[in-house]
Amino acid sequence: MAWKTPWHYLHQFVYHSNTECRTGNDEVIEDNTDPIAELEIKRQSRRQGTGGKRLCIKCAELNRLGR
Ligand SMILES: [Zn+2]
Repeated sequence: MAWKTPWHYLHQFVYHSNTECRTGNDEVIEDNTDPIAELEIKRQSRRQGTGGKRLCIKCAELNRLGR
């Protein structure tokens, strides 16, 4: 099990609660010409809590599977 305190990113519309979720992890690089800058942006925009957002679909699936 990989339950954690929920977290979200300011630029995403969902929050994450499962550390197995790749979408919610810092190493995921989205399409960008400068991956280092993208990583830094994601790190700085990471916030604790749900942010009043919906749970990420991937996290929901992982939680349902008990991972
Ligand atoms: Zn997620």
